[in-house]
Amino acid sequence: MGEAERGDTAPRLYVSYFCSNNHETRPAFAADAQIPETWDCPRCGLPANLDADNPPPPPKITPYKTHLAYVKERRSDEEAAAILTEALELLRSRRANGEVIY
Ligand SMILES: [Zn+2]
Repeated sequence: MGEAERGDTAPRLYVSYFCSNNHETRPAFAADAQIPETWDCPRCGLPANLDADNPPPPPKITPYKTHLAYVKERRSDEEAAAILTEALELLRSRRANGEVIY
């Protein structure tokens, strides 16, 4: 009758997932649950799948243009350097004030 009792007796299915770093993770699923094809590796965060010999490749890092890269497209290097210095000084003063913690 109780939830706990039902939980204890519910059949569990342990499924092995493999990531491209050779980590194996074995989440448990309810026997009647749908087993997902991929699983995020809890150790490295890469996608993992059910095929130990052929784990999913790590996702491509999409090239990310920084704000500075955009600035450099529009301005000369000296201007960009001045803007960078200004930004750094602003960041340093904000950090000194405890406004930013990185
Ligand atoms: Zn992993």
